[in-house]
Amino acid sequence: MANPSFIIVAIDGGAASGKSSSSRTLSERFHLLHADTGSYYRALTAELLRGGVTPTDLPGVKAALSAVSFTTRVTGRSAEIELSGHTIPDAEIRSAEVTAHVAPFAAIPEVRAALLDYQRGQADTARKNNFRGLVMEGRDIGSKIFPDADFRFFLFADPVERARRREQQGLQDQVAKRDTLDSQRLQESLQGAVLIDSTHLTLAQVVETLAAPIAARLAA
Ligand code: C5P
Repeated sequence: MANPSFIIVAIDGGAASGKSSSSRTLSERFHLLHADTGSYYRALTAELLRGGVTPTDLPGVKAALSAVSFTTRVTGRSAEIELSGHTIPDAEIRSAEVTAHVAPFAAIPEVRAALLDYQRGQADTARKNNFRGLVMEGRDIGSKIFPDADFRFFLFADPVERARRREQQGLQDQVAKRDTLDSQRLQESLQGAVLIDSTHLTLAQVVETLAAPIAARLAA
């Protein structure tokens, strides 16, 4: 029987807005499966680059997409993507090369279409693995993937603060440039979402803001 208290939490926002840390913390607190869809786009980007495909080579992109299959490996509370049966190492998906190419690939409609059902299917993965729900982070989760999510949050932060966060993580990332490429999706996902400005908040404060309505629902 379907679990009536199963919840879906959608967290959208720009690069380095605090989505990943807060999603991970929420997944631990409420026993939710965590799906980082940015890592899905990154893994697919790495796979395409491995095959010598560039974002301007649409026939190459289409051929590569038709040859790849998507499955999931649940590790702890994390739903990791497998491409044709293999995962891509974290160092590779966070590399400067993948970071520089991911937004141009993600702007291609065929790339987005290839991941659509896969992302929606994570709700079933969460149910099958007895999670209490799913927390999914990305750019279009509350607008395209789960527009009927129980909770829809949109995180943002000042660009200077976001650049500082990435530098502190030792990562090369042009956050403003990626946000420009992602801007249409970001605009759509903030409609109707609860907006949270994380610029001057600690991670604990962001998490409390997100967790309060979820805890209230689960206690009801
Ligand atoms: O979240 P992260 O910064 O790792 O995402 C990497 C890139 O993947 C984003 O800049 C965006 O271009 C793309 N993305 C997307 N839709 C999502 C998640 C990520 O287009 N739902």
